[in-house]
Amino acid sequence: MRVGILALQGDVREHAAAVRRAGAEVAEIRTIDGFDDIDALILPGGESTTMCLLLDKTGLRSPVEAWTRAGRPTLGTCAGLVLLADRVEDGRVDQSPLGGLDIAVRRNGHGRQRHSFEARVPCPALSGDFDAVFIRAPRIVEVGAGVTVLASLESEGDLEPVVVQQGALIGCAFHPELAEDDRLLQLLLDRAEGAPS
Ligand code: GLN
Repeated sequence: MRVGILALQGDVREHAAAVRRAGAEVAEIRTIDGFDDIDALILPGGESTTMCLLLDKTGLRSPVEAWTRAGRPTLGTCAGLVLLADRVEDGRVDQSPLGGLDIAVRRNGHGRQRHSFEARVPCPALSGDFDAVFIRAPRIVEVGAGVTVLASLESEGDLEPVVVQQGALIGCAFHPELAEDDRLLQLLLDRAEGAPS
């Protein structure tokens, strides 16, 4: 199993360590070479606006977009979730996401860096809570009919989705890799194992 990590910017190292812990191979993706022979893809946290610019600059947009829009196994965390969303609010005007997940997200929906926080998020689907680290996290503000909510955060009396899945696409508003919680990665690997290449 070979897992590509989009390595243009962001917390690539933490994801790479998690992939190796899970016994899979890491391919850091910086150019279109090597994109062909991966089984799953991780879009890490970082800064989605910068990643969008670099996707265009490196020529990676087209293959990566084809991958996510075809619903091939992908995990997007934080900025990676913004990239995976079909609709983005409060993005830069020239920021066009890759898309694939039928959700709308609001960038920096919880405020700026100093409003970053940690919370315990129940996730019955993955048997137990996540100790979730939210850093300038996007908010999922709309979820399409084909999307399953795996975990929600209690926010001002409401339940707000923070982990969603649509087929083999998994999106997460927080940073499981920083808590060294590999359950979402494992879900990705399970999906990749069953997916036609
Ligand atoms: N706010 C960032 C963005 O929109 C995401 C922050 C993160 O990945 N920790 O890209």
